[in-house]
Amino acid sequence: MFEQLELHADLCNALGDMGFTAPTSIQSSVIPKAMEGRDILASAPTGTGKTAAFLLPAAQFLLDFPREYHGATRILILSPTRELAIQTYEHALEITQHTNIVCGVITGGINYGTDRDTLAKNLDILVATPGRLFEHIEKESFDCRDIEVMILDEADRMLDMGFRSIVNQIASEARWRKQSMLFSATLEGPGIAQFSKDLLVNPESITVDPSRKEKAKIHQWYHLADDASHKYQLLKHILSEQAESAIVFVKTRERLQQLKDRLASDDIDVCWLQGEMPQDKRNQAMSRFKNGEVKILLATDVAARGIDVDDISHVINFDMPRTSDVYLHRIGRTGRAGAKGTAISIVEAHDFAMLGRIARYIKEVIKPRVIDELRPKHKAPTIKKPKKSTLKKNTKKGGKKSSGPKKKGRGKNITSRKQDNG
Ligand code: ADP
Ligand code: MG
Repeated sequence: MFEQLELHADLCNALGDMGFTAPTSIQSSVIPKAMEGRDILASAPTGTGKTAAFLLPAAQFLLDFPREYHGATRILILSPTRELAIQTYEHALEITQHTNIVCGVITGGINYGTDRDTLAKNLDILVATPGRLFEHIEKESFDCRDIEVMILDEADRMLDMGFRSIVNQIASEARWRKQSMLFSATLEGPGIAQFSKDLLVNPESITVDPSRKEKAKIHQWYHLADDASHKYQLLKHILSEQAESAIVFVKTRERLQQLKDRLASDDIDVCWLQGEMPQDKRNQAMSRFKNGEVKILLATDVAARGIDVDDISHVINFDMPRTSDVYLHRIGRTGRAGAKGTAISIVEAHDFAMLGRIARYIKEVIKPRVIDELRPKHKAPTIKKPKKSTLKKNTKKGGKKSSGPKKKGRGKNITSRKQDNG
């Protein structure tokens, strides 16, 4: 029960309006510690309610310590992408709907005039992407000196996107703050430890593991494709026969454009999100997808980060991600809030090394499936449990650099696999 967390009645009422009856596990772990004023280093899988885990204590802080004078922003939330910033802002509006707390959002792709109006508003809570905010700091159109709480959402993605230095600079501008919180889907990867050292003081570290129940909700399998055209046929089949609503992930903007054109020529209606897209177009695409007008959303990873759309039945990896944690982020788009979800990867032989790494990372077997009329000509190699020899072989195969003389046994194996690849 949220009441047990000693949140203000106005916040509890808002939660009631939003249909939140009980806190999620990350919320019940984070909120009391954050309300003590501790710095927080928190990780929990995508879709487990991290946003409210930091918005609620932030709002409670503003209610406990009301403003004494008109001034600049008191709570700063940094988000890696525009979509995520806007979603977090909307979430903040909902949570603070019965209070006088003033919220604003600043992201790239919005015109500077709008930013000026936003910043003129004596904001209590500002959600911002680091790049645009830093422009304002440099132009002295934003003042960090009144910031009391700084929150970093999706810190792992911030690092991936190269925001480390900008975020550190923003943090040093906001050096009079009383509290910092860092949220991430994972704390793995070399960067996060240093990042949190730079930003947090003696943090309370909170990690919530994906419960077995949570994971079991997402059914995962893969289809083996012989080549690019077979891959496309499989996708088309899945989209038209199986998926009610789907996000299809591709690895680059160029691939996204190609796929979109191809699907359009087959009369399959899609919308898409990619980086460097005008804000109004992105919003348009998102709302067409969210209101069900279009069932299929094509996206690159950068563009899709943090998107929270309910009821996505399928996540389809048309291109495999480059790392296992990105896979986890992708499939986290489905199976939310107790719904059953499906994640399908369409792989060619050269994707098997990645598929194996992912299976080891998520500690689950990803099984193959076959669509009768689209059977692959080749047999799917089985993905085995962690085994040093398999690991090595796969790595070797990918590395074109090794120019040394081939060792006999291994070389043979590699050659035959290569032929399989066509
Ligand atoms: P994360 O940031 O961990 O990926 P979000 O904060 O985006 O997760 O929340 C995922 C979804 O769960 C959102 O639709 C949100 O409204 C919903 N949600 C969050 N907390 C609760 C709760 N306590 N009860 C019900 N739904 C919740
Ligand atoms: Mg989030």
